[in-house]
Amino acid sequence: MALTRIGLAGLAVMGQNLALNIAEKGFPISVYNRTTSKVDETVQRAKLEGNLPLYGFHDPASFVNSIQKPRVVIMLVKAGAPVDQTIATLAAHLEQGDCIVDGGNEWYENTERREKAMEERGLLYLGMGVSGGEEGARHGPSMMPGGSLEAYQYIEDILLKVSAQVPDSGPCVTYIGKGGSGNFVKMVHNGIEYGDMQLIAEAYDVLKSVGKLTNGELQQVFAEWNKGELLSFLVEITADIFSIKDDQGEGYLVDKALYASKICSYAQGMNIIKAKSTEKGWGLNLGELARIWKGGCIIRASFLDRIKKAYDRNGELANLLIDPEFAQEIMDRQAAWRRVVCLAINNGVSTPGMSASLAYFDSYRRDRLPANLVQAQRDYFGAHTYERVDMPGSFHTEWYKIA
Ligand code: NAP
Repeated sequence: MALTRIGLAGLAVMGQNLALNIAEKGFPISVYNRTTSKVDETVQRAKLEGNLPLYGFHDPASFVNSIQKPRVVIMLVKAGAPVDQTIATLAAHLEQGDCIVDGGNEWYENTERREKAMEERGLLYLGMGVSGGEEGARHGPSMMPGGSLEAYQYIEDILLKVSAQVPDSGPCVTYIGKGGSGNFVKMVHNGIEYGDMQLIAEAYDVLKSVGKLTNGELQQVFAEWNKGELLSFLVEITADIFSIKDDQGEGYLVDKALYASKICSYAQGMNIIKAKSTEKGWGLNLGELARIWKGGCIIRASFLDRIKKAYDRNGELANLLIDPEFAQEIMDRQAAWRRVVCLAINNGVSTPGMSASLAYFDSYRRDRLPANLVQAQRDYFGAHTYERVDMPGSFHTEWYKIA
């Protein structure tokens, strides 16, 4: 057998499907898994899915030795200790200049620790978030590789082909930045994903519990929303969910409220990434992140194109809420948004995501917040000092002596 182009270790849902995707795109691949039955299962699938160039190995030494140099192995195992154990297994057989890519949902500081340790052994390391679940991994995920640029360049041709392809926007992958930036960005992406799901669930709850819509009506509402600014994978599958089960009024208002909350959720996610990028000196390009999330991943939505354009207009945008287009949209919707949250509260329906998003917006648009009193309380009981708006520096007052 000729040497393969790349290896993949960890053949559960993500690893098995990504390996088949890589093989299907014409890159011969070696695969390995601690439990060897999964190796045989993957080889069998590769045969059934078109005799794909995928080769299985039951022991790590022959797996590593089957890959062309410099060797690249993508790991897709459970985050945490299993990653350290898999690295130890692989590194015993890898040589200087070879590269390990962790494709799992790893805590970014673990990636930075491992990158350093690998560097000391002459190995390159990437932490690469992969989004899109089983389907994405098999047919085109969104990928967020961060760490060694040299390692990224070894596999760039593969990643560009296996990632989701969005017309006019390109492959859903880009080199994210140094260190653990790829994993950090993927973590925030997942936060946004679950925020989206929560907001959709709350909109559904208001429509069903307050508006008394039937499942048939809910299906129609979500299908309608999926034609407008809320067009997204998650709204689409929500409409499908209601069409499978058997089971008006406020539809217009809730739709506004959902969209405004979604803008706040994305604004917060982008600002978490921006703050970490500044702290770590990663220099991340937020518009490019919005671009690679347009396809393949669970949060794919037409809305992301608008976010990309907002950062194209102003790369230093302090917050999406102050982009002129988004600011106008949110202003146009805020009356409906407030009515929906009030309606939910008055009917005893909890909407933590929508309410928190509205609170974020209201905090953001206020000139002054009452944090001055919190600072004073902290300084009173713990001499934590406080800052002033009229002069720089830290100050302390002997509050109880004055009182
Ligand atoms: P998973 O259930 O997270 O992990 C199972 C894999 O980890 C198996 O290959 C298993 O090997 C291996 N493993 C567990 N403990 C191990 C150890 N101590 N030593 C060596 N291997 C060990 O699999 P997954 O769902 O495919 O996810 C893989 C990674 O991708 C995770 O980080 C996950 O968070 C991330 N991810 C998952 C999804 C998703 O939709 N599932 C989406 C995006 C990202 P054995 O077969 O030998 O037990």
